[in-house]
Amino acid sequence: DLDAEVSVTTRDEVGSLAHSMNELAQELKRYRGSRREFFSNVSHEFRTPLSYIQGYSHALMNNFHQDENQRQQFIHVIHEEANRMNRLIDDLSELSRMEEERFPLELELVNLAYIAEKAEEKIRHNIEDKAITFHTEIEEEIPDIVADSFRLEQIFMNLLQNAVWYTENGSIRLKIWAEDGKVKGMVSDTGPGIEPEELPYIFERFYRVEKSRARDFGGTGLGLAIVKQLTELQYGTIDVESRKGRGTTFTLCFPEAREGEE
Ligand code: ADP
Repeated sequence: DLDAEVSVTTRDEVGSLAHSMNELAQELKRYRGSRREFFSNVSHEFRTPLSYIQGYSHALMNNFHQDENQRQQFIHVIHEEANRMNRLIDDLSELSRMEEERFPLELELVNLAYIAEKAEEKIRHNIEDKAITFHTEIEEEIPDIVADSFRLEQIFMNLLQNAVWYTENGSIRLKIWAEDGKVKGMVSDTGPGIEPEELPYIFERFYRVEKSRARDFGGTGLGLAIVKQLTELQYGTIDVESRKGRGTTFTLCFPEAREGEE
């Protein structure tokens, strides 16, 4: 009887060991797959601007332009594409630093309403000639949260900039309020919205709903991935709701600072 029991236990252990090994192998496979996908995305993102730069510089070197005006246009494209590559490098290195264990944050007591308004002010002055109206609803006496004010502003700048980019004419709403020990922020637009089946992926690196259109705005496809990382690093969460043709709403939620916290 004793023997039987031992052998059962052993068989169980072997079974569970095999199971864990299997899981590990699966995970490794997924990890390798996502790594491969990531590198292929990165190469693609760099190849596109590079091919513009090569094409247009080649045209200039061979005097393919028709007049001075066109020459200026070609130079402009080269300049813009080089800028895009710069933004890509900046965003990628920032993202990879964020994914490391110890990303430096200067945590202090901050007022979310103050930061969000500051970001909105900057974006509002930079909407070019778009017909966009801004609505701001900020509750009075918002409790402080523990966060890095520069990084918090970056989150709002990103969300508001996207709202401006993707909204042709319409309105953008910024709302800040406190609820159940949390401080919440909402950035909402009346832009094109996102299909429900695309929604789960928009925080992924390089995910774009409309590939060419998003590219025209000069985005790197990394903005929302950075926003999500930054939010989570500051103990917050971010949610998105959207209706195709109606608009998109991002909601941030941060725990209120506790008494004596700094
Ligand atoms: P990008 O640099 O392309 O804007 P993001 O990571 O900021 O990259 O956003 C990912 C994708 O999510 C965008 O390409 C766009 O398709 C979609 N998106 C983001 N914000 C909005 C918005 N406010 N309205 C509609 N679509 C949006």
